[in-house]
Amino acid sequence: MLLLFCVLFGYIYIYIFRIRKKLQFLLVYYSSGGLLAYADSNTNGAKSISVQCQNETQKKKVVVLGTGWASTSFLKDLDISSYDVQVVSPRNYFAFTPLLPSVTCGTVEARSIVEPVRNIIKKRNGEIKFWEAECLKIDPENKKVLCRSNIDENLAGSNEFCLDFDYLVIAIGAQVNTFDTPGVLEHCLFLKEVEDAQRIRRTVIDCFEKAVLPELTEEERKTNLHFVIVGGGPTGVEFAAELHDFIHEDLVKIYPSVKDLVSITLIQSGDHILNTFDERISSFAEQKFQRDGIEVLTGHRVMSVSQRMINMKTRSKGEDISIPHGMVVWSTGVGTRPVVKDFMEQIGQGNRRVLATDEWLKVKGLDDIYALGDCATVDQKKIMASSFNSFMFTSILILQEDISAIFKAADKDNSGTLTIEEFIDVVEDVVIRYPQVELHLKSKHLFEVTDLLKDVDGSDREEIDIEGFKLALSHVDKQTKSLPATAQVAVQQGAYLSMCFNKREKCKSEPEGPRKFRSGGRHEFRPFRYRHLGQFAPLGGEQAAAELPGDWVSMGRSTQWLWYSIYASKQVSWRTRFLVIGDWGRRFIFGRDSSRI
Ligand code: FAD
Repeated sequence: MLLLFCVLFGYIYIYIFRIRKKLQFLLVYYSSGGLLAYADSNTNGAKSISVQCQNETQKKKVVVLGTGWASTSFLKDLDISSYDVQVVSPRNYFAFTPLLPSVTCGTVEARSIVEPVRNIIKKRNGEIKFWEAECLKIDPENKKVLCRSNIDENLAGSNEFCLDFDYLVIAIGAQVNTFDTPGVLEHCLFLKEVEDAQRIRRTVIDCFEKAVLPELTEEERKTNLHFVIVGGGPTGVEFAAELHDFIHEDLVKIYPSVKDLVSITLIQSGDHILNTFDERISSFAEQKFQRDGIEVLTGHRVMSVSQRMINMKTRSKGEDISIPHGMVVWSTGVGTRPVVKDFMEQIGQGNRRVLATDEWLKVKGLDDIYALGDCATVDQKKIMASSFNSFMFTSILILQEDISAIFKAADKDNSGTLTIEEFIDVVEDVVIRYPQVELHLKSKHLFEVTDLLKDVDGSDREEIDIEGFKLALSHVDKQTKSLPATAQVAVQQGAYLSMCFNKREKCKSEPEGPRKFRSGGRHEFRPFRYRHLGQFAPLGGEQAAAELPGDWVSMGRSTQWLWYSIYASKQVSWRTRFLVIGDWGRRFIFGRDSSRI
């Protein structure tokens, strides 16, 4: 409690201090992975109208789809003096998704975790235009997007419009993935949007109000008070913990007659919950849930959901199990939005789950369309994989491995072997272009890249031929991993892309990327590189677990306080920061509100 007030007081102090010094008002948002700062900038204010008009005609049109983590991070630093920017999203606010589980139980109010987009863009002198609409179709050939507003049809004017673009940034996130499980869409609740969290909050209260009505049997009361969560990932686990706290800290006091009939079940198809975390965290969470009375069913696959029953199969014995439920929350990963699916079919990526981009976040095969965040994945180039090279004026296609091209580029004297010096000369570009090389070194506990060229006994070699070179790098590609669908990745991608946009002209003449081993020359930019800065899993009862940078694992009450301070500092504005800290304080003093609003 004392610490909470210290955090609050600290922020008030900094705020007053900043105003007094008349510093530029800088709001910093540190997102589990990147810095997101909205500057109340007046740096563009002095621009004369004539210069502005001149620029307008030269400016390239950038259309940004979405107002989530990736797009707001992109917009934050984009140099709008060079671009005419239009943002399209059916949501006119940014939502701080990591606090959505807290909204489901009223620990934090919905409005405390959202920031209106117009507040964000007004800080850019109104030069960014926002249209509250959904993108229905992307036309890459004609460089157009078709959009439709969902605002009340009865209002005057058409709801559909088309936007031209020179560059398109697709950052429309993902939708829930039901894996086509029968009954899920009809009978489950989801936890993806703010409205979902509000719906869950109302449903929990409904279940309690229904359970205490007269004339119900004990079995019916138990069914209504059986809360099931499908998916043992971070979201499912955090929601289970929040729900447990809400019930045991607040609801049992106001519904004492049914307090012994409540149960929570968490279903996970894998062997453990939180299986993307360190094993110690996973077992700490399982033990804590066992103590709290949350039943964890691992190795169970949900086959269908009906209004009252959830039907599963055990993985080990294939047994069918059905349990009655009052509410099911489905939280099992992300799927593709229809507009992205349609776009993927148009560009020949129809058989993929998400849009594939190159390491510069450009949609594969397209020049001016970028995709970031949950709707895309970076298709990391493999060092050993072959690809086709077409030679000018001939239709002959030559199958060439990247590794052969690297060898050829490094072998300056065309001797057919590489000396250590020749290898050192290309190694920096190789590591930048193929980050898996660095990961491989780490996994093998090798300190220098040149250690790769040592022979089987670990002795240095003077020279290495192509076969030896291939052998040395043969296992490197095993380290290529797809990036997780997290805000951390989305924010870093947004910041990276705006940096590329801002340097576009400069890097055309002074490229700063790695060498192009096949065609010669250099890439304009360094490829996107994700830096994982750790992750949290709040487990309820004022306890949390965290994986921190440097392979650190932290668990318990102190980690929960670390969570409070980091999530307070991560808020996108001082307004939401005050609201969130205020909500935490209110919850400590008065408990959570159980009104069904
Ligand atoms: P989003 O943030 O989802 O934004 C997508 C945007 O596109 C939205 O504005 C949406 O309205 C808009 N849009 C949708 N359809 C269209 C359309 N047709 N046309 C135009 N715009 C459209 N990640 C973490 O790193 N840490 C966490 O602790 C964490 N906790 C989470 C908790 C929950 C409950 C959830 C659901 C997610 C959590 N995540 C967390 C994941 C994180 O929220 C996502 O990875 C992140 O939101 C992805 O960012 P994005 O910009 O790709 O998509």
